Amino acid sequence: MVAARESQAASGTVQNVDVAVVGAGFAGLYLLHRLRKAGLSAVGLEEAGDVGGTWYWNRYPGARCDIQTIDYSYTFDPELDKAWTWSEKYATQPEILRYLGFVADRYDLRRDIRFKTKVTEARWDENAERWQLTTDNGAAVSCRFYIMATGCLSAPKPPEIDGVKDFKGEIYFTGRWPHEGVNLAGKRVAVIGTGSSGIQSIPLIAEQAAHLTVFQRTPNFALPAHNGPSPADRRDLFQSDRAAYREQARQSMAGVPYPQETAVSWQLSDAERRERFERAWAAGDLVHILTQLWADQAVDVDGNRIVQDLIREKIRAAVRDPETAAALMPDDHPFGAKRPCLETNYYETYNRPNVTLVNLRQEPIKAITAGGITTAKRNVDVDVIVFATGFDAMTGAIRAVHPITGRGGKSLTDVWAQGPQSYLGLTVEGFPNFFMITGPGSPSVLSNMAVSIEQHVDWVVDRLKALREAGFTTIEPTGTAQAGWNRHMADCSMLTLHRLANTWYTGANVPGKVQGLMPYTGGVGPYRSICDEVTSRGMLGFRLA
Ligand code: FAD
Repeated sequence: MVAARESQAASGTVQNVDVAVVGAGFAGLYLLHRLRKAGLSAVGLEEAGDVGGTWYWNRYPGARCDIQTIDYSYTFDPELDKAWTWSEKYATQPEILRYLGFVADRYDLRRDIRFKTKVTEARWDENAERWQLTTDNGAAVSCRFYIMATGCLSAPKPPEIDGVKDFKGEIYFTGRWPHEGVNLAGKRVAVIGTGSSGIQSIPLIAEQAAHLTVFQRTPNFALPAHNGPSPADRRDLFQSDRAAYREQARQSMAGVPYPQETAVSWQLSDAERRERFERAWAAGDLVHILTQLWADQAVDVDGNRIVQDLIREKIRAAVRDPETAAALMPDDHPFGAKRPCLETNYYETYNRPNVTLVNLRQEPIKAITAGGITTAKRNVDVDVIVFATGFDAMTGAIRAVHPITGRGGKSLTDVWAQGPQSYLGLTVEGFPNFFMITGPGSPSVLSNMAVSIEQHVDWVVDRLKALREAGFTTIEPTGTAQAGWNRHMADCSMLTLHRLANTWYTGANVPGKVQGLMPYTGGVGPYRSICDEVTSRGMLGFRLA
């Protein structure tokens, strides 16, 4: 990459802009729109061939959102809100991708985006007070502000199993599914991984494949989506006062307008708890079941265990073979401490004669061979392997730009050697004019990300405007502010049960990754108030120059 940088510099092909935005998903698109309105010149740099981010890449069968689409939408423009109506409660990947394309067209955003262009290095030039970005395609970029809108779930995790290269059949990754689709009819298919992508795709793959073998390391809690038209109660609430509905989402804990539950589990009788649970189960809504059962479910192991037991009871009832049912029941983490999934026919799929579950806790994979997969107990011959093994979450895409070099030649990799450090999950000490959208240290993946993305983008663009108006050229957090934020992050994480699970929230799914809870657990509304307070107190914790 040094060669790429030198050749770009030598050929003089440098694009000068006020702001470089890396990524053209939900975040990058809104950034480009806001920056243009603020009168700042900007370029979007996107590795993919078009807009969409997550929804460009994840085209596997069954890919959908799991926050109701009525909530998983932009809210910045009431006219846009009215111009688009979702066809389902949980829209499919093609529909969400169409929506993002519609947004790009409506605000004419593509003209500012360089597609098929990956940012490979970023260097702060102290004298010029500008970032110099190296790309793998076309001109380098020189910008005053460098914003990574690179996504929390955009760097697929490479397989960690010996022998992948020896396999003679077809290999697919759910996070990089071929655009033309894949014909699995009549084939023997293996799916490795039972996180959200696995749980969404397995029922549909089972319908096509001659035989499907699912390799599961950790079972996940999955709840029925009960997909269909948007539920009347939510739709009516939304349509009765759209502005109030959106505002309630912004102030809520998870970015979805549900009230704060106050009754705790021990104040309710068994019958009342059962009634609440059955209602939540029938609602088919992740945020409902995570927040509306009883107030102690997310913070107290006993309150949480009641929910776990009720869900395990549902799994037991859905899966005919008791051994398979037992293997599918999570027993090593509190409900909600790892992201639960929404499912459609997932558990029932294991009742099909053409589906086998392999429990990797009892028989770990030893190797992938030319013809299939060998575990400690058997050889499974397959024609196709689907890796649904997830992402190097939250920091993967940021760290993949290497190096990112800040003040005094400091590299972000070194600064983050013991885990990500940030102020507000937005900025890093020693890296002036550098911003992350939904970075580690912000609510991000613990929220409806559409809401969190808009909050970050608005805050950043408003700050850039204010900076320019006040005649400042650089902004950077102080070490004290950053240390204080990291302390606050740690304190908040002790209040929830996330600390009790090894998950992609903590980096546990990536071998060698430093462990620690990466998202902020204090909630979307409180986080927004903190960001606003930082501004109202004269940019508390920032050094402006
Ligand atoms: P992304 O959409 O990930 O876009 C980032 C873009 O940056 C990508 O296109 C990538 O190619 C590009 N990029 C990265 N690095 C570089 C580089 N170095 N150079 C150039 N380009 C680069 N969230 C919810 O809130 N609700 C849901 O229901 C939900 N469902 C999901 C389902 C799936 C299958 C997945 C994977 C995620 C889901 N998410 C959901 C999370 C989702 O990622 C966010 O909601 C949102 O789409 C993120 O938008 P973004 O713009 O921040 O990032």
